[in-house]
Amino acid sequence: MPMLKAEHISFSYTGRGSQEALRDLSLQIEPGECLAIVGRNGSGKSTLLSLLAGSLKPGTGSIECAGKLGYVPQGNALLEDLSVWENVVFFAALGGISKKDIPDPLPLGISSFRRKKIRALSGGMQKRVSIACALVAKPQILLLDEPCAALDIFWKMKALELFWEAKRAGVAILYVGHDFSEILRLSDGILFLDHGRQLFQRPLSQLPSSPIELEELVRSLLPEEASF
Ligand code: ADP
Ligand code: MG
Repeated sequence: MPMLKAEHISFSYTGRGSQEALRDLSLQIEPGECLAIVGRNGSGKSTLLSLLAGSLKPGTGSIECAGKLGYVPQGNALLEDLSVWENVVFFAALGGISKKDIPDPLPLGISSFRRKKIRALSGGMQKRVSIACALVAKPQILLLDEPCAALDIFWKMKALELFWEAKRAGVAILYVGHDFSEILRLSDGILFLDHGRQLFQRPLSQLPSSPIELEELVRSLLPEEASF
């Protein structure tokens, strides 16, 4: 049974001149599976994750979640005037995890600045807190919107290891990213979005195994004006 299933979802932002941000999109993810979402800026990736996380409501179509959801949005959703530790406790509690079940040390090295307020942290440090907050709540589904974009090479590797561990433990992952070597390491399949529509979806077995070849394939498959 899929952990996450979306069927024929469409969505438009309200407001003058708003176009349909997503059109007739369907996907499903099994436990322990990772589906990568790839597409140009503005193709609808973050809108899709907001819909799956329930922070937006689809105009048409249906979304079914069979487990607890963890979400790392593209822009952080942390409580800026609270400390790192207070955020961790808050997001763990939202996921039904009590203080005593929070790992010590915290993931991604954030224990070293656990007393600092979120607003006093760099973008990359905030992103590490955001990822840690999602993980400590022990989700069964992880929605990751460019989680590694602000991380230095060291923390990027650590974050990818944690996502791998979660996957091995049966977590279903939806991973938005632009880095094909990250995607090839983590994903079982890729869904390509273009102008809010699915351009194509392929299992990893039907894609080249080198990031450069994959990048070339994507370029050749995307419409000319939508090239990477
Ligand atoms: P991506 O994450 O792939 O870069 P987004 O999902 O953020 O793309 O955006 C998809 C489309 O929806 C874009 O055309 C963008 O301008 C539009 N959009 C995103 N957020 C809003 C919003 N809050 N209000 C109106 N339009 C939006
Ligand atoms: Mg986005």
